[in-house]
Amino acid sequence: MRQSHRISTLNGDAKDDGWGLFNLARARIAQGAEIIELTQGEHDIGTDARILEAMHASAMRGVTGYSPVPGLPKLREAVAKRLSERTGVATTPDHVQITPGGQAGLFAAHNATCDPGDRALYIDPYYATYPGTLRAVGAVPVAVEARSRHGFQPRAEAIAEKAEGAKSLLVNTPNNPTGAVYGIETLEGIARVTQDHDLWLISDEVYDTQVWEGEHISPRALPDMAERTLVVGSMSKSHAMTGSRLGWVVGPPEVIQNLTFLANATTYGVAGFVQEAGLHALSLGVDLEEEIAAPFRRRRAIVLRLVEGQNVVRAIPAQGAMYTMLDIRATGLSGEAFGRELLDQEAIAVMPGESFGHAAAGHIRLALTTDDARLEDAVARLLALAGRLADRNS
Ligand code: PLP
Repeated sequence: MRQSHRISTLNGDAKDDGWGLFNLARARIAQGAEIIELTQGEHDIGTDARILEAMHASAMRGVTGYSPVPGLPKLREAVAKRLSERTGVATTPDHVQITPGGQAGLFAAHNATCDPGDRALYIDPYYATYPGTLRAVGAVPVAVEARSRHGFQPRAEAIAEKAEGAKSLLVNTPNNPTGAVYGIETLEGIARVTQDHDLWLISDEVYDTQVWEGEHISPRALPDMAERTLVVGSMSKSHAMTGSRLGWVVGPPEVIQNLTFLANATTYGVAGFVQEAGLHALSLGVDLEEEIAAPFRRRRAIVLRLVEGQNVVRAIPAQGAMYTMLDIRATGLSGEAFGRELLDQEAIAVMPGESFGHAAAGHIRLALTTDDARLEDAVARLLALAGRLADRNS
């Protein structure tokens, strides 16, 4: 039987979904290999026991049935309060749809804004699921490159060049994979282009609690932007709740109303005990968020210190998020080829920059998700390998 064109082409013409090296590393681990994994954005700690206890207590109290499709009123209220306080934009529960994770929020937000065949812009380098998410709603993904030499901050002119006739623009700050935190100039440029070309702005802010330099500014807070911006948030990264699948979309109430209709037709809500656990997690305040973010700040410093001691690999110092990008072009290899050598020779798995688009080619992304000592050992061996490869290829 023939499947739909849409589902058959979700991966575009990519030969894999960007996870080829990751899958190879996982297959070797399954066969008993010892591999240091610096691949996925998955914390090396589990969800805090206080959150799990709240989840357990909620389930035992009987919060196990269908829950309200827009989300529990108290959680919508807590998310609205959080966004009001952190962005200065008045936000009410009517602006909030609870989703099973940020990924479902990205899909929902594009469903709300793009019709089949519409051009949907996104910034390259990008989080690996983006093009597939846009194709999943029938939109045509159009990449706008942000350059390594510009610190991976997207330029307004580059976006404007592709904006004619487009429907939406997807941005992500703090950024995965690059660690860029968009400055006010970048964000004002983005706001200007979306206004000039009447684009929806979809702002993926799932790393908003992981900022090492500068500050997180939500583009929704810029003048006249709240009406055209849909913010995607999540508790995955901020509260180490990746497996709980809890996130949200914040936007104009008339859009949120339609997202609730979409949820009726798809997810039919998020487990009530997960939402109550999320509510409890938010009530624990910024101390817990800082505690969860702290290891990534520390490990980023470890990587930068080690990279400073040699001159083959260049670090793009992450301003935020749980990753660091390394420019390995001086080895003469692509990110993919370098990643393969690293896996074969040193049993270290990283993500090749090519998994995140053209603009990150010749780079690799390290997820800072292993303990400090193992990370230090892995980066030292990575740099030594880069030195050997550079000598061989010079
Ligand atoms: N957006 C970005 C940039 C991400 O890196 C991720 C996960 O890694 C997500 C969204 C999705 O997160 P989740 O669906 O777990 O909330």
